[in-house]
Formats: sequence, structure tokens, C-alpha cells
Amino acid sequence: MAGNLQGKAALVTGASGGIGRAIAVHLAAAGAEVMVHYGSGRERAEETVRLVTASGGKARIVQADLRNAADVRQLADACGKLDILVNNAGIARGYTLESTTEEDFDTVFSTNVKGLFFLTQALLPHLNDNASIINISSMVSIVAYPAYLAYGMSKTAVNSFTRSLAADLGPRGIRVNAIAPGATDSDFLGDIKDNAAVMGAITAATAFGRLGTPDEIARAVTWLASPEGAWITGQVIQVSGGMHL
Ligand code: NAP
Repeated sequence: MAGNLQGKAALVTGASGGIGRAIAVHLAAAGAEVMVHYGSGRERAEETVRLVTASGGKARIVQADLRNAADVRQLADACGKLDILVNNAGIARGYTLESTTEEDFDTVFSTNVKGLFFLTQALLPHLNDNASIINISSMVSIVAYPAYLAYGMSKTAVNSFTRSLAADLGPRGIRVNAIAPGATDSDFLGDIKDNAAVMGAITAATAFGRLGTPDEIARAVTWLASPEGAWITGQVIQVSGGMHL
């Protein structure tokens, strides 16, 4: 495929899910060869690969439970050299302070923070100079959402990781940024989508009065990964349709 990511190798974690799938499809459409990672959703990952190859792109599947350090090391070993790492996999559990169990808290932090941290660490020797790392954060890390408490804390850790790693890896020309989506139409929203009152409040908080789409997040990620984003590093970029302006 022709595009400004021609010849680049990318890993997208959580590419069996809504946003990760769209990122994989858009990176491949720009010419990157994409590793489509999944945790438990093999069939959904295969559908992502099918979508990529149907439009002439290149993709292959890799599996790892990001909560598990041995899995994470195996994933890194399976990757080969990389130019683009999109740490997209993530999960929300527990919700308010009252309703969050220890297991919920551990699941959120072991996936969103520990998994991302140690995967990136294991991939350091595999990242080419001038690579681009893009971490998927959330608007919940920036504005108050008491109903996503542990999740918001985990994404705030992702923002901190992003800034410090950008300073650390700058001498190698490696850029590290985060994209903070607002509410985006994917399975992540779960039952919330059936709750008209909650949906009304969420969409009213945006300038455009609607949910974002995975494609809209993926376009921002693909642009940031491209040479167009060459002078941007250490940033947490809101891609939210103007949430809470
Ligand atoms: P999604 O459709 O639920 O996808 C989540 C992805 O994370 C899946 O591919 C899932 O893989 C993977 N994952 C979860 N736990 C994992 C684990 N232990 N090991 C490996 N993979 C794991 O949600 P999404 O909307 O695409 O979310 C993608 C990212 O965007 C997440 O980081 C999320 O926090 C962030 N985000 C989403 C929204 C939103 O409104 N949708 C807003 C802001 C930020 P398997 O299913 O294969 O296990």
C-alpha cells in the first residue's frame, strides 16, 4: 500500500477491540505492516486482520495477556523491529470508590499500567531509532469522573509515563505521546449505551453533542505516528470532540 508509513512496522495492543481495530486498519492503510495484538478475543483479532488484508494491507496476529509478565516478554520477542508502538489495550472496572473491589483495582492497574509499562520496557531493544510510541489515555485522566475512579487514576499514570519516557528517549529520536479520547462508540461503553440519561450527559459534554467514533481516534493516532508529527513529543492530546471545554 502507498502511504507515508510505507516500510514501517507497527504493534497495536488491544487490536481485537473497537479503537485498536480502527488504529490497525488506518496504520495499514498508510502503508505500515501491523501486528494485531489481542488478549482473549482471537476471533475479533482475526476480523481485524481480515479488514486490513481486504484493503491490501499487511497484518499478523499476536496474543498476550498484558497482566502477565511472562506473556508480555514473549510478545516482545515475537515482534521483531518496530517503528510504531500503540499501547491501546485497556480496561475499566469497579467504577466508584464505594463499588471498587481489590480485584477490580488490580485488574485495572495490571492491564492499563503494569502491562503497558513492562511491554514498553521489553520492547526498548526492538524499537528503531526515530520510532513513535503512542499511549491511549482517556479524558477521564484530565477531568473529574468519580464513576471511573481507579480507571482515571490508571490513565493519569499513563500520562506521567508518557511525559517522562519522552524525555528519556528523545536522544534516540523516539517520540512518546498520548492520545486522550473522550467517550467513543465501542464495546468499552458496555451497558452505558442503553442508559439514556448517562448517554445524554456524556454527549452533552462534547462540543458536537455525540460520541466519537473509533475511526476518529485512529486518524489522530495515524497522523501522530507519521512524519507530520515529527516535532511533537511528551504530549497528552485530547481527541474528544471538545469535551468539557
Ligand atoms: P474495547 O473495545 O473494550 O477494547 C479493549 C481492548 O483491550 C481489547 O482488544 C482487549 O483484548 C484489550 N485488553 C483488555 N484487557 C487485556 C489484557 N489483560 N491483556 C491483553 N489485552 C487486553 O475498548 P476500546 O474502546 O477499543 O478501548 C481501547 C483503549 O481506548 C483503552 O485503553 C481504553 O481505556 C481507551 N479509551 C476508550 C474510550 C471509549 O469510550 N471507548 C474512551 C477513552 C479511552 P481482548 O478483548 O482480546 O482480551
